[in-house]
Amino acid sequence: MLSINQKTPKFPCIDCHTDCCKEYTIFVNAHDVHRLSNGLNSKPETFLELIGAKDYSLGIKVEEGLVDLALKQNNGGCKFLEETDDVFRCTVNDFKPGVCKSYPFEMKNGKLSQMSDILCPTDWDLNGFKEMMMPHLKKDELEWKFYDVLVREWNSKHEGESLSKFLKFMLNQVELSLKVQ
Ligand code: SF4
Ligand code: SF4
Repeated sequence: MLSINQKTPKFPCIDCHTDCCKEYTIFVNAHDVHRLSNGLNSKPETFLELIGAKDYSLGIKVEEGLVDLALKQNNGGCKFLEETDDVFRCTVNDFKPGVCKSYPFEMKNGKLSQMSDILCPTDWDLNGFKEMMMPHLKKDELEWKFYDVLVREWNSKHEGESLSKFLKFMLNQVELSLKVQ
C-alpha cells in the first residue's frame, strides 16, 4: 500500500495486484478521517462504514450501536481502489490512512519489523525502508493513542448520541489538536 513514487529498494508492490487493498477491512482513526475528509472535500459519511466494535471498551458508543470506523468497500475491495487495464491504484494516495501507509510494517520494541502472515508476494528490505517508515510508524502510534482518548471521552460524556454528532466532535478535537501543535 505504499506509494510507488517513493524511491526505495526492491519495491514488492510493483509485482503485486494490491491484495492488501482487497482483503483487509481498513480501520481508521480521527486523523485519518480528518485528512481524507479535507483531501476529498467530502463529509466522512460518504466514505465511512460502521463495523461492530472489536473491543467493547474501545468501541464508539453511538445511537447506531457500539461501532468502529472503517473505509467503505466497493466491488470486493476498498472504495478508493481503482482498476484500469488490470493495473490497480489508490485514488487517495496523498492522504490515505496511516494503516495503508505502514503496511506491512510494524514497530516492535522500537525497531522496524515486518508483520507476520503478510499478503505481499515477497519479503521487504527492512534496512532499506527503515528511514522512511520509522517516523511514520511513530506518528501513527500517537494518532491511535489520541483516538483512543477521544473515544473514551465521547463514551463517558455523550454515549448514545448520533454518529453524525460523534464525527463532528471527532473532527473538532483534531482541529483543536492541530492548532496547539
Ligand atoms: S485507501 Fe488506498 S491504499 Fe488504503 S486500502 Fe484503499 S486503495 Fe488501498
Ligand atoms: S500486498 Fe504488499 S506488495 Fe501487495 S500492494 Fe499491498 S503492500 Fe504492496
